[in-house]
Amino acid sequence: MIDVVILGGVGEYGRNCFLVTDLATNTRILLDCGVRNGKPEVYPPITAELAKSIQAVFISHVHNDHIGALPLLAEKGFKGDVWMSEASLNQLSSIIPTWQEKSAHLFIDRLHFRSFSKTTRGKRIKITENLSMTWGYSGHMLGSVWYSFYLKERAVFYSGDLALASPLLVTDTPNNLVYDVALIDSGHGGQTMPYQKSIKNILSAMADSSEKYLIPITISGKACDLLYSLFKALPDRNFLIDNQLYQHLHAYLKHLDNIHKNKWADLASMLNSRRLEVYQGVIKPGIYLLRTKPGGFHKINTAVFKNEQSPFYKSHPDYNDLKTLVRSIDAKEFIFFHSKQTDLETILQALHSDLFLN
Ligand SMILES: [Zn+2]
Ligand SMILES: [Zn+2]
Repeated sequence: MIDVVILGGVGEYGRNCFLVTDLATNTRILLDCGVRNGKPEVYPPITAELAKSIQAVFISHVHNDHIGALPLLAEKGFKGDVWMSEASLNQLSSIIPTWQEKSAHLFIDRLHFRSFSKTTRGKRIKITENLSMTWGYSGHMLGSVWYSFYLKERAVFYSGDLALASPLLVTDTPNNLVYDVALIDSGHGGQTMPYQKSIKNILSAMADSSEKYLIPITISGKACDLLYSLFKALPDRNFLIDNQLYQHLHAYLKHLDNIHKNKWADLASMLNSRRLEVYQGVIKPGIYLLRTKPGGFHKINTAVFKNEQSPFYKSHPDYNDLKTLVRSIDAKEFIFFHSKQTDLETILQALHSDLFLN
């Protein structure tokens, strides 16, 4: 029997952390180990007893709501491996300093980070006698993956954060298995908003070419997709972006297996274009994608869905994506995560009536 303990991430946005135990073989793994962002950050309830009982951790991607509690896990005595993709592991060097600021650095050295080679994508990898897994790209950010786990006679699917049709990032189709449990990202399941519609809404909100528009961003697949799509759609505009985003886009070129092949040339030419600059404090007409929110701009909020005309751009499955996922993944039990409790209830009700889901 498979036992799943939700340490965070169900009925809340963030703190994704799921403890999976195969009772038949006593195999115990942790899927992600995140915090809920905010001041203060909210941690999953990891005790020393629990940390010591976990054999391995599998990280879906390097956002704080999926990895931020790793120092706590180490502090509580976890000694196993922390697995992730090569592209995720490469990004850790820029993330660990942010943990050091939180004085969690004392315990980081105890973590054994490991990556699976790009060549193992879609293949079955044996981790222990009773545990093997397959991974594929999940389209949410550079290096983000989903996992299929095989625990002797049982199978578990973990989507991580997922985007089904990112303009730049590849999303692999999950293995066609019958899963005992499938944990699915339902982060934007409270609404339906196709990418093309989002871009149309955003474009109509930035019609004036003499204006200065600011799109607040985080380092994510969404920020890269937005830049790419708007850069193509508005050939008369200049784009000024955060240095960290610029570096992150260059990292895309080092992990081209993560990027749609037919976008490689466009991506490289955008990065070489004179229309794309790193923002250094000088303000002129153009479109700004920044992690900070300096004044003097016309701000466009792509994070909040108010109605069909909102410039909202999804970074998780919306309701239509969820229906596609539930139809294509054969599982005895679904656990939807990354949605606040009220959204989750709406999503479950809608899925029940649309798909007769039990
Ligand atoms: Zn994420
Ligand atoms: Zn997340």
